[in-house]
Amino acid sequence: MPDCIFCKIINDEIDSDKVYTDDQVTAFHDINPVSPVHLLVIPNKHIESVQNLEEEDQELMGHMFSVIGTLTEKFDIHRSGYRLIINNGPDAHQEVPHLHVHILGGKTMEHPMG
Ligand code: AMP
Ligand code: ZN
Repeated sequence: MPDCIFCKIINDEIDSDKVYTDDQVTAFHDINPVSPVHLLVIPNKHIESVQNLEEEDQELMGHMFSVIGTLTEKFDIHRSGYRLIINNGPDAHQEVPHLHVHILGGKTMEHPMG
């Protein structure tokens, strides 16, 4: 998707601090972190939001969550805990229309959510 900032990150058309990449998934540090560990994990396929997922994306989503698990170990937050966030649509303030999972960790989160 030509105007998508995350597609440009995947294609190395703009700089990013990548921590993982394979043929299906890319992960990088959020440019504006809100916790000591703040990563974004995205499918390499341009999917706008959860609403746009198709049947054929099931394996891709499964793989993405497997990569998330691996990254939480790499960043040593798998024992202390972490929060996964997918902002979806206007009420959730989704700013980038390319599906992404935020991994937040390294501090005690606020509770309750919302
Ligand atoms: P969301 O509100 O869920 O759409 O979050 C978008 C996230 O993308 C925000 O946390 C931004 O800080 C982050 N972001 C935007 N542009 C970049 C970029 N070029 N590199 C890394 N993170 C970015
Ligand atoms: Zn995109």
